[in-house]
Parts: sequence; structure tokens; C-alpha cells
Amino acid sequence: MIDTHMHADARSSEDFEKMFIGGIDTAISCSYYPYKVNNAEILLNHLNRILNFEPKRAMEYGLELKIALGIHPANSIKDNEIIFDSLKEWIDNKDIIAIGEIGLDENTELEKEVFKKQLELAEETKSKVIVHTPRKNKLEVLKDIKEIALENINPKLVVIDHINLNTIEEIIDDDFTIGLTVQPQKMEVEEAIEILDKYDFDKFLLNSDISNKPSDPLSVPKTVRTLKRLGYKQDKIDKVAFKNAESFFNL
Ligand SMILES: [Zn+2]
Repeated sequence: MIDTHMHADARSSEDFEKMFIGGIDTAISCSYYPYKVNNAEILLNHLNRILNFEPKRAMEYGLELKIALGIHPANSIKDNEIIFDSLKEWIDNKDIIAIGEIGLDENTELEKEVFKKQLELAEETKSKVIVHTPRKNKLEVLKDIKEIALENINPKLVVIDHINLNTIEEIIDDDFTIGLTVQPQKMEVEEAIEILDKYDFDKFLLNSDISNKPSDPLSVPKTVRTLKRLGYKQDKIDKVAFKNAESFFNL
């Protein structure tokens, strides 16, 4: 199984062990710094930690980490040149499999500017992007995200994440891939399955988004095994368990 969005730097060794024993072979760790980012050096240190430190820590328990780096909307800073220089280098060296997570959170002008600039870089380098949608005003902000994304990047390069029953209709007919985050306070297993049942399995990726907020490191295996118990066909289950992620991220 592949957990397509998590934050390894916020989690314990015990979680990595649980995930691996629970059947997750690979997880994609994204950037998000939960405290003030006053300057680009702090952010760069955070990104380097995810890239250079976390994969070894997870691998001790068998869990392979793939890395997505970028400027999370909550960490938007004006003076961001050194981050963009590093992103270009990581893309060239194939150190990262995507730019992410990026997107809009409070929907400020600065967030929009940094989001757009990262989409332009992704389009230029044909990189995949992982796009965050916020907990607050999700539908309203998703509309802005969609507009900015469609203006700046081929939607086939983009996964729009943390989508739920209230927001899915806004993007289901576009060429985006869609991320379902199964997490306490965000979405239960049952809601993810209701979406898959209604819209079919082809466009979707599953993830736990485990972070410093309430999280369940086993939410992907729980969803996959519930699909199995409910009698869904194995080839459909495999799509959301790993196949769609493998083909989207070229894993
Ligand atoms: Zn996240």
C-alpha cells in the first residue's frame, strides 16, 4: 500500500513501525512547518530535514519514504528565492517526486502569489504537485485554487487533496487527480468509500495526512481492508491502494 500524503517529521518511530506492519510499503512525506517561519533559512532547514533525515528514520522500520517539498501556504514567505533555487535543484536531481504540499489556506494575496509561482515552476519542469485544500471555507477556497491551477498548469500534473463529499462536485469533471484524506475530524472511512463507490476508483489517491494534528497512521490500511470486507473487486481496491499512486507519481 502507498500512503500518498503524510508528514514524517511530526511523527514517531512507533508510527512508522505500525504503518509498515499494517501493510504500507511506501509513504509520501510532504512539507509543513507548524510554527512561525520568519525567514527562508528556517524553511530551508525544515525542507532539508524532510529530505535528508526522515527517510533513514522511517527505513529503519521498513517504511520507504518518497519526498514532496514546497512552500505550504501556511508557511508562505515573501523572500523565497533560496527556496525556489533549492526546489529547482531537487527537481533536476530527482530528489523529490512532487512539489508539495502547496495551495491556499487562509487565502491571502501572499499565499496566492507563492502558490502561482510554484505552479509555474511545476509546469515548466513537468513536475507533479500536491495541492492542499483548507479545513475552513473549503469549497470557497477550492474555487480559487481551481481557477489559479487551471490558468497556470496542466491539471494532469496536479492532485487536489483533502477533498470530501461537500467539495468533490467542484472538480470531478476536470483532469485533476483527487486525494482523499481519511483522518479523525476530517473524513471517516465510510465517507471515503461512499465517494469511491459513487465516482469510481480511477481518479483517487488515499492518504492519512498524519501530522502534528489528530491523525491515524493506519487510516489507509483501514480503508483498503474495509473495501475488501465489503466485497469490492480486488482490481478496484488495488487502484486506490497503490496503482493510481504508482502511475501518477511514476513510482
Ligand atoms: Zn499535509
